[in-house]
Amino acid sequence: MGQMLNFDNVELFYDHVYALKGVSIDLNEGETVALIGANGAGKSSILRAITGLRKIKSGRIDFMGERLDGTAPADIVRKGIAMVPEGRRVFPFMSVKDNLLMGAFTRSDKADIARTLDSILTRFPRLKERYNQQAGTLSGGEQQMMVIGRALMAKPRLLLLDEPSLGIAPKLVQDIARAIVAISRDEKVSVLLVEQNSRMALSISNRAYALSTGSVVLSGESKALMNDDRIKAAYLGGE
Ligand code: ATP
Repeated sequence: MGQMLNFDNVELFYDHVYALKGVSIDLNEGETVALIGANGAGKSSILRAITGLRKIKSGRIDFMGERLDGTAPADIVRKGIAMVPEGRRVFPFMSVKDNLLMGAFTRSDKADIARTLDSILTRFPRLKERYNQQAGTLSGGEQQMMVIGRALMAKPRLLLLDEPSLGIAPKLVQDIARAIVAISRDEKVSVLLVEQNSRMALSISNRAYALSTGSVVLSGESKALMNDDRIKAAYLGGE
């Protein structure tokens, strides 16, 4: 299992807000890695640094052995990194079909795009049923499935998920968790999962990093972290 993504001592600022204070994380091919932590811990900033939406101040980011920071966002997608943003960000007046096709904007082989689309509709039959429906009329859970599908349309090697369980009915959180596990297994895609639902995140990831105010405070195998008293107290409601 080779290393896929490496963060070495990354610092990131928003004006005067010191959002990432020298963060080092890594992710290997085939792994699902979770980032957990409270509001404002810096989880989304890590994703913004990877996708190139925000420049880092110092440190470096490598992907598949090549330097990633400084690369333009569209080229980052071409390198095989696709993002499922927080809050779902659908194009509400476009159909499910057109939302999904937007995800393939870096690809040109029509037959190959059609194959990917087919596999996504097979995975998410709900989207097939609602294929021509305006995306804004989908339920929250359906929209989440759709934006995961949209990211998969880029045929990524690394999928970034920003709080997929946010605002989703508890029953559907299970479905989304199962979908993430199935996708990583079937599509051979690695996953970096940002979640405030630490229990869900730890239950479906291989390893995790706990963040607090811009620093990694704990990391390790997810199974071990789930039984760690510090994690239980701070992230699992003290159970
Ligand atoms: P959440 O779960 O609430 O999204 P997070 O762990 O993802 O939290 P970040 O969004 O990475 O946290 O934010 C890290 C810090 O940077 C916070 O203190 C936040 O207020 C600050 N921050 C984020 N975006 C901006 C911005 N555009 N301008 C100024 N400060 C920002």
